[in-house]
Amino acid sequence: MPWIQGYPYYLLMGSVLSLYMGVSSYRHRKLAGRRYLWILMLLVSLIFVATAGEIMSPSFQSKLWWKNVQQAPLFFSALFTYAVVKEYVSPSTGRLPVKLAIFSIPIVMDVLLIFTDSYHHLMRSEVSVLTVAGVSGIAVKPTLLSMAFIAYDQLFGLYAVCLLAVSLLNTPRVYLRTNILLLAGLLVPVISVFLLPLLKITITGFTAFTYLPAIIAAYFALFVSSKLTIFPLTKNKILEHMKDGVVLTDRYDNIIGINDAATAILYDITRIANDNWMGKNIDLFMKSHKDIAAHYSQRTEGQFEVVCSGAGELCYGVSLIATEHAATENKGMLIVFSDHSEKKRYERELVYQATVDDLTGLYNRRHFMQRVQIQTIPDGLGLALLLFDIDDFKLINDTYGHLAGDQALVDFSNKILQVYQNKGIAGRVGGEEFAVCFFAEDKSAALKEAEDFRTMMSDYTIILNEQDSIHLTASIGISFTERREVTFEDLYREADEALYHSKNTGKNRVTLGREPIIRETVKG
Ligand code: GH3
Ligand code: MG
Ligand code: MG
Repeated sequence: MPWIQGYPYYLLMGSVLSLYMGVSSYRHRKLAGRRYLWILMLLVSLIFVATAGEIMSPSFQSKLWWKNVQQAPLFFSALFTYAVVKEYVSPSTGRLPVKLAIFSIPIVMDVLLIFTDSYHHLMRSEVSVLTVAGVSGIAVKPTLLSMAFIAYDQLFGLYAVCLLAVSLLNTPRVYLRTNILLLAGLLVPVISVFLLPLLKITITGFTAFTYLPAIIAAYFALFVSSKLTIFPLTKNKILEHMKDGVVLTDRYDNIIGINDAATAILYDITRIANDNWMGKNIDLFMKSHKDIAAHYSQRTEGQFEVVCSGAGELCYGVSLIATEHAATENKGMLIVFSDHSEKKRYERELVYQATVDDLTGLYNRRHFMQRVQIQTIPDGLGLALLLFDIDDFKLINDTYGHLAGDQALVDFSNKILQVYQNKGIAGRVGGEEFAVCFFAEDKSAALKEAEDFRTMMSDYTIILNEQDSIHLTASIGISFTERREVTFEDLYREADEALYHSKNTGKNRVTLGREPIIRETVKG
């Protein structure tokens, strides 16, 4: 058999191949379904190395040592085959590491017994060198105890195959190919345990090769093929060219899919410079968004808006979509980010136009009223409403022109804003009529406030058309109440009457109205 001359090299090549796959699987160890694959591959690589050592060693003692070394990875590989499959098919594997530790106890005992010379007779009744087709290795006759350990170990391989076969029945069609590939690969080492003795294949180290189809199938199924089935190339292209940011997380909250738009958006939102979010935990984003985090942790769907502070006018809509609707906890989530900045700007513009008077920048009449109506008078204070009407304004228009009149209105409004911006609510309620509402301790405090404004205004010089200096005066009417049941209309009526009185008694003066009478009560 000339091919057998290269046998040790085949073993070493098998070792290098498994090592390569182990190392490249290690990079993806945080992805769901791929946590234990790298360990399984490294174990298989060790089986190959130890088998090559056994064959190539010249003496019986060194052959036996390598044979013993081989046992640990051999036994653990069945357990980790189970771990890989369990993690791949089960929705919840939080307790898997604990289970693996418990299941390992008999395996550790078995390996310890093999390595402890004094107990050797417990595990092997006979140890000899066997040469088949020019390959010489150690042949052992296992004891009953040893066979019990082997049977225990093989159960994990069998169980893994059953688990995968059951999941195959419930698998969506897209995963069918992946699962069949994985199952076919895993069947080889499991079946060969029974098949090799039947076929009388006794060449040392053949078992190592039976693991090769298993790990190659697992590698392709979980990395290469799964990428193709879950994210076909075309779908990836669409995602990459989408303006919306798309992030897919697994049940461990790790990002397992992200497009370029999402990378840029996550930077805008988190300010964390990170070009590679793949495999990272979505916590980095969730930390600063409690509402979203609450929905995310419950795996409930929802829509939110995130405004980026300090990053211009950026605003993103965030939609959470559970990738599966089963009641099982810890499902993956799809997070879609859409740029709402333009919409938000437009909304703000509309709100501004609907609420603010475009000449003066004060609230318009309707919005001023709405704002005042929702005020609740605090204990110990009262609500004061001041109505201003500029005196003889028609004359300003007639003398200096309408544009100059506009300028005068803007100047007057600026004064109102300057004085009342932080004290209360100010609005333009008519052509040259303004209103201010604020909380005051009592009537006299409100009266003083109005009187101060009136005198300040009459002393203030306004320059019109860059040459004409004028003084504007205003007549002011005040109404004041400490009772919460007084409606805005009642308050306004009294202030208006007081203003009328100021006008009729010589203008440029302040009049305090009567206590508003409650004339109408609207009951809901
Ligand atoms: P009174 O002292 O009795 O209030 O006299 P008045 O001239 O101010 O009263 P009236 O209500 O008769 O005139 C208000 C004027 O304000 C009439 C209108 O042309 C002017 N006006 C209203 N809105 C604007 C505006 O947006 N720009 C300008 N330039 N003038 C306006
Ligand atoms: Mg008027
Ligand atoms: Mg007027």
